[in-house]
Amino acid sequence: MKTLGVIGGMSWESTVSYYQKLNQGVRNQMGGLHSASLLLSSYDFADIEQLQVAQNWKALGERLADTARTLEQAGAEGVLIATNTMHKVADEVESAIKIPLLHIADATARRLQNQGIKRVALLGTIFTMQMDFYKERLRQKAEVDVLVPSQDQQLEVNRIIYEELCQGKTLAESQSFYRKVIEELGEQGAEGVILGCTEIGLLIQPEHTHLPLFDTTEIHCKDAVTWMLATSCI
Ligand code: GLU
Repeated sequence: MKTLGVIGGMSWESTVSYYQKLNQGVRNQMGGLHSASLLLSSYDFADIEQLQVAQNWKALGERLADTARTLEQAGAEGVLIATNTMHKVADEVESAIKIPLLHIADATARRLQNQGIKRVALLGTIFTMQMDFYKERLRQKAEVDVLVPSQDQQLEVNRIIYEELCQGKTLAESQSFYRKVIEELGEQGAEGVILGCTEIGLLIQPEHTHLPLFDTTEIHCKDAVTWMLATSCI
């Protein structure tokens, strides 16, 4: 099995999900006492969030690139960034290391293509929903139309991520709000919904909508387990 470096703590609430899903995935495939060979680096998310709000992507890129290098030196054979938003600096991370970066949008694009999705809704942080780094990659790799919520809805979707989900709170009214947003995007033609923030799966599960969900945490972990257990790179 290959050793995977995980750049986590953004927030730790979803890094817990990664740790669980990566280990479960390896156990499901290999059985018995087998578990994932991991190196985990976990930030103080308050520092990261301040740099995000300041849009200081340069400092964030340097920070994540340093961490990726440290993981590589410690023996990681590949790395993943356990959040969608911070893939804004994926290029900086990739160019700092010689080992592969398992990109969350690429894994998601492959899943969309496999399921023949042509028009998809995207929920995530304001950065993920508004900037091009994520949507454009999906458009190119999966040839999909990407729909996002209205401006007002985006603000609330984003607020719930930072003020609730990243702080361990899952509230019924927030779940209703997300369901309403998903329903509206379905009416606009979305054939599926990307949970494009690694904490949204803590609030929204398949029973909350008739649309297929693409939970990026789950997809990223499945992809990573396949990579860890493959004899050649995917
Ligand atoms: N984990 C979230 C994501 O997947 C949001 C927190 C962050 O900004 O990193 O985008």
